[in-house]
Amino acid sequence: MPIFSHAPPTNDRGYGLPIIRTPANGKLELAITTPEIIGCPTHWYHGRTVPCETVNCQACLEAVPWRWHAYLAGILPRTRQHVILEVTAQAAEQIQAYAKTHPTLRNAILTAQRQKNRRNGRVIITMATGDPDKLHLPNPPDMIKCLSVLWNIPTSQMEQGPRMKNHPALRIHPDGNHQKIAAAIAADLKPR
Ligand SMILES: [Zn+2]
Repeated sequence: MPIFSHAPPTNDRGYGLPIIRTPANGKLELAITTPEIIGCPTHWYHGRTVPCETVNCQACLEAVPWRWHAYLAGILPRTRQHVILEVTAQAAEQIQAYAKTHPTLRNAILTAQRQKNRRNGRVIITMATGDPDKLHLPNPPDMIKCLSVLWNIPTSQMEQGPRMKNHPALRIHPDGNHQKIAAAIAADLKPR
């Protein structure tokens, strides 16, 4: 006997939101769901971005340079897919300029484009206030949990760190990175 329902199944990927960056060509548009950005120092290590562990950080010990990256979540206009956008500190400053004069980033329309459409061109961000009644955005995801899933960090070992240039920063427990998520924590990450 089939189980009927009046609506398609909800997205069960939970906190596994895909991460995107500003494309080399064209414009990226995002309707922001999170109230603020969250960021931390990261390394490009073994082919991917990983958070700097600050104490006994393997990448630091190997003299891999670090860069601060910020993250926010939003909805892509065409597919309505919920994604996480990664931006550099320089791009985050442009977002923070908007945040200084608005109570929240949520419902803002972010447009990101690279100068001269070059792969590593400077990212130019414009922010506009969207209409919440038209956008109908879903609830913001728990960004710390999303990043923990992306980086495979048990959330219990991560805490809100000191603020860096007014940005909230993540401080990561020295032993907490690159570990398998414990079963209890994995259960906590499942959507409710
Ligand atoms: Zn490091």
